[in-house]
This record gives sequence, C-alpha cells and structure tokens, in this order.
Amino acid sequence: MKILVVEDEQKTGDYLRQGLMEASFIVDLARDGLDGLHLALTEAYDLAVLDVKLPGIDGWQVLQGIRRAGKDMPVLFLTARDDVEDRVKGLELGADDYLVKPFAFSELLARVRTLLRRGGKAKESDFLNAADLELDLLRRRVTRSGRKIDLTSKEFSLLELLLRRQGEVLPRSLIASQVWDMNFDSDTNVIEVAIRRLRVKVDDGFEPKLIQTVRGMGYVLEAAE
Ligand code: CA
Repeated sequence: MKILVVEDEQKTGDYLRQGLMEASFIVDLARDGLDGLHLALTEAYDLAVLDVKLPGIDGWQVLQGIRRAGKDMPVLFLTARDDVEDRVKGLELGADDYLVKPFAFSELLARVRTLLRRGGKAKESDFLNAADLELDLLRRRVTRSGRKIDLTSKEFSLLELLLRRQGEVLPRSLIASQVWDMNFDSDTNVIEVAIRRLRVKVDDGFEPKLIQTVRGMGYVLEAAE
C-alpha cells in the first residue's frame, strides 16, 4: 500500500515517513503543497496524509486539486489547532479524517488503517481468503486451517498482494514495485527468496498448494489442481 505524505516540517515529515515505512507502507514525502499535488495527480496512492499549513499552496488547495481531478483516495489532514472551523472545512472539502498536532504516531497509524479499510470501497472485507488460508487485514494475522502463521511484514505484504489478485499471474517486476518499491533491474533475487520463505510457511504441510510459479512469467496464488 502506497501513501503520500505532504508535510513541510522536516522532523514531522521524516518521522511520519519512517514510522509508516516500518509499518510496511510505501511512502512518498513531499515537502510543499505544489510538489504534493503534483505527486497526488501523477502517481497512484492508496491514501494521502496532508498537513494544512504548507508553503506554496496550502493543504486545502492540495485537497481540492485531488478531488477536482476525480481522485477518491482517502485523505487524512493534520491541523495544528483543535479548531472546529478547520475541521469542518477539511471534511467539506472532501477529507476523510483529521488529526490535531501534536499526535501520537500510534494514533495516526490506527486512523490510516481504518481509512484504508474503508477506503472508498466501503464494503471491503477485513479478510482475504483462499481455500483454508485466511488473512486478517485488521489484526494483520494469517491462519491456515485455523493455525496461526507468523509472517514478517514484507511476507505479509507479499501474501496480501497475491491474495488480492489471486488467479492472476503477477510478474516479478510488479511484485518488486508493489511490495519492495524497487525497480526490477536491481540485480537481486529478493523476490524468489521471499516467495520460497512464504511458501514454506503457507504451503508446507498443507493441501492444496496455493503459491504457484509460472515459469518465465511470475507467480500466482491459486489452489493447485
Ligand atoms: Ca506545516
């Protein structure tokens, strides 16, 4: 999942980026409104965190630009004071939630996760399933046949991607960009290694096997015949 953060205060911006990356999100950080709006309109994000007071154009203008362009990603705005007018204005302009600075990172993360769950697709389930495998997006837990499977955050993201697009062959370049935020030309077998580890955890000792290699093409999650 990819998040845009627009925040001009260096420390807050770095702290948000770092924290969200540790929570296994891919993060782009813009330091002013124009840069933020440009990114919002040219890249695909699952959510945006917008500071209101920004140099150049402010957070409200960024938000209006995003909505005018028909982008419906959830937007969480950050306001410096607990000002009712500010809140109302933000929500009227099409923001989905807000936080008053200073805030605890855990609070921001909780809001982000809630918005992503609701994210435009109001009815999206908190669970992804294939055969007896279940991924709980809310609690970030995975079980197979009711048995808990411990995954690293990258493995979780990889499995989430495979499950969201099950039945579809995913090229390694797509997996690299979605899960690792890197280009495929990086000379690395990181994806193969991650797939192998994930397979041991998800498929060893279970039937049917779910993670399939499609030679020369990529990987697909589906119940093997
Ligand atoms: Ca600011």
